[in-house]
Amino acid sequence: MPEPPPSDGAASHGAHSELSAIELRVRALETVLAEKGYIEPQAIDRIIEAFETRIGPRNGARVVAKAWADPQFKRRLLENAGAAVNALGGIGPVGVHLLALENTPKRHNLVVCTLCSCYPWDLLGLPPVWYKSAPYRSRAVIDPRGLLADFGLSLAPDVEIRVSDSTAETRLFVLPMRPQGTEGWSEEALARLVTRDSMIGAGLPLSPQEASP
Ligand code: FE
Repeated sequence: MPEPPPSDGAASHGAHSELSAIELRVRALETVLAEKGYIEPQAIDRIIEAFETRIGPRNGARVVAKAWADPQFKRRLLENAGAAVNALGGIGPVGVHLLALENTPKRHNLVVCTLCSCYPWDLLGLPPVWYKSAPYRSRAVIDPRGLLADFGLSLAPDVEIRVSDSTAETRLFVLPMRPQGTEGWSEEALARLVTRDSMIGAGLPLSPQEASP
């Protein structure tokens, strides 16, 4: 397992706001380092691929599924998510302060980073491009209900939408509600219902019907 790239929280809040400028700098830096033989572009690709497909969002799905299946773990997760995840083993260690936000029938949580793109990499892998976009970051605050509708998620009017803003110090993820019809399911089977977007709050977990091929 190669060293993971530094979490974006290592940079100060706002340091990666101007994506196009940063992207140009990263590309220039990568080219120079590769030309000088300090880095191997294929190795970087493999690290990114690991965060995209193996680490995230499956780590998060495993945590959510365990919380659905194990009430004691769920309680520990809501009290201190970092400690609960680290005690689980096989993930992290999660170095940043991690907070789990529980969805209920009356409250839906949505995670955003209004300043830049802080994101729980350890659990969810690489953030989707839209998470870093200015329209998402602003609409999550101005019109979260409309934003969720655009994601195909129409919540009943009596469901409160709580928008939580990530910071460089605290990473947030949503603990979605367990889908109905999953009584007695194993954690492995439950984990297959947990989508990345459901842990950001921009979607819901799959239903058993949606998950079956
Ligand atoms: Fe940020």
